Amino acid sequence: MKRVTILGATGSIGQNTIDLIKRAPDDHDVVALTGGRNVALLAQDAIDLNAQIAVTCYDDCAGELRDLLSHTDIETASGEAAIIEAASHPCDWTMSAIVGAAGLKPGIAALAHGGILALANKESLVTAGPILLETAKTYGATVLPVDSEHSAVFQALVGEDINSVERIIITASGGAFRDWPIADLAKATVAEATSHPIWNMGQRITIDSASMFNKGMELIETKEFFGVSSSHIDAVLHPESTVHAMVAFHDGCLMAHMGAPDMRHAIGYALHWPKREALPLKRLDFTQDQSLTFRPIDVARYPAISLARTVMEEGGFAGTIYNAAKETALDGFIAGKIGFLDMARVVDMTLTKILADHSLQNAPFTLDTVFDTDHRARIEAAQALYSLG
Ligand code: NAD
Ligand code: MG
Repeated sequence: MKRVTILGATGSIGQNTIDLIKRAPDDHDVVALTGGRNVALLAQDAIDLNAQIAVTCYDDCAGELRDLLSHTDIETASGEAAIIEAASHPCDWTMSAIVGAAGLKPGIAALAHGGILALANKESLVTAGPILLETAKTYGATVLPVDSEHSAVFQALVGEDINSVERIIITASGGAFRDWPIADLAKATVAEATSHPIWNMGQRITIDSASMFNKGMELIETKEFFGVSSSHIDAVLHPESTVHAMVAFHDGCLMAHMGAPDMRHAIGYALHWPKREALPLKRLDFTQDQSLTFRPIDVARYPAISLARTVMEEGGFAGTIYNAAKETALDGFIAGKIGFLDMARVVDMTLTKILADHSLQNAPFTLDTVFDTDHRARIEAAQALYSLG
């Protein structure tokens, strides 16, 4: 029996994780489920999975969650501290699928009891990668990537020596606007940015796919997770989204990871690691015509990529600033305060402003300084947003 906790259980990744767990209920003992405002779904899943604890991050949802579970012996709680507390309960496998930097502290709390942290929350790595990975080492915990590209790279590297890697190439579907004329992008609406041609994901990551901030985050994530320098990491457009990533080795060979665009491949791999178990995924059928196309990413269309390159070269707090400014800019776009292209302008302005402060270069990289910088970047980004809005 594997003891399992799902942070962000009501979201897209959380629900895909629950789908796999519900298929093998006897193999899993669910410790905690956490969510946000969708308490009806959280409560139903807590009942279905016989969870010990259900937590909403919103205090104003606490009463509703308590009422829905009053006839059960499932414990309920609310708020950020309660999420961290739930993540601290001993268990063997934790899915980190909260969206945004809010996932960092619960993820770190989960590492403190050892076991496996299945990491979908890429913001943790972009914001504070070295701290997260160092914490895992300290407690003997294992971090497994659950971003589809990073799971693919991880799988291509099984049994390989990282020193024989020449390049890591992650693929990008191109998001909602991959075929739009650049001139139209300034007028793109939230609804248009929220319709992804291939992947079915939460709203924030879907808009980040349209702007390529998602791919920018993933480039940084690749550098942090695999410890490869930025000049050895590429992202390419691959509209079919069947090759998730490729690893090129110094003998000239290349391993590509392929599969249907379904996040359950990465979640299932992390759930059963180090074994492979059968998964309910659509199979690629090579008896039918298949085309695989790849093309370079046009950085004029996607400034988020050049900004991510700057971040990778700067290191230090640059990732913290990139993520916090991006989250603030995304909030501004969703709220209708700025246009689609302004998101990259906000991130650029925030990075330029804060990186010019040389005192940051000498600051120790700790959770406190990370959160201070995150806070400062959100304030600077809000000002940049105001100046553009
Ligand atoms: P989502 O918006 O569908 O779900 C987010 C979950 O986090 C929900 O359960 C929500 O209630 C919870 N949440 C939101 N704000 C919170 C807060 N402040 N504190 C605690 N909980 C909070 O998001 P998603 O698409 O499932 O993505 C989750 C994470 O996985 C993100 O980091 C995303 O980048 C990453 N990811 C997602 C996909 C995908 O296919 N959806 C693919 C790769 C990586
Ligand atoms: Mg991805």
